[in-house]
Amino acid sequence: MHCRAMHGPGAVPCDDCAALLEYAMDRIEACRFADSKPTCARCTVHCYRPTMREQIRAVMRYSGPRMISSHPYLAVRHLLDRHKTPVTD
Ligand SMILES: [Zn+2]
Repeated sequence: MHCRAMHGPGAVPCDDCAALLEYAMDRIEACRFADSKPTCARCTVHCYRPTMREQIRAVMRYSGPRMISSHPYLAVRHLLDRHKTPVTD
């Protein structure tokens, strides 16, 4: 969504966004909180590299408000996740 608006026209996702997406998926996979994972903004463990973190924030700033209309289910899930408390056991 972000890529199409900001980096298009052209291949979507572009190389940068594809790499960022892959990195994010990797991090989520490796997240030690699994099901109790809060949204990354509230997480106690900052597993993203600082540069990647900035890029993700830029994407979220753009996509967050727009997700309500285009992906309401995901947006609601994201809001609910915000209230989770990260626990490891
Ligand atoms: Zn892009």
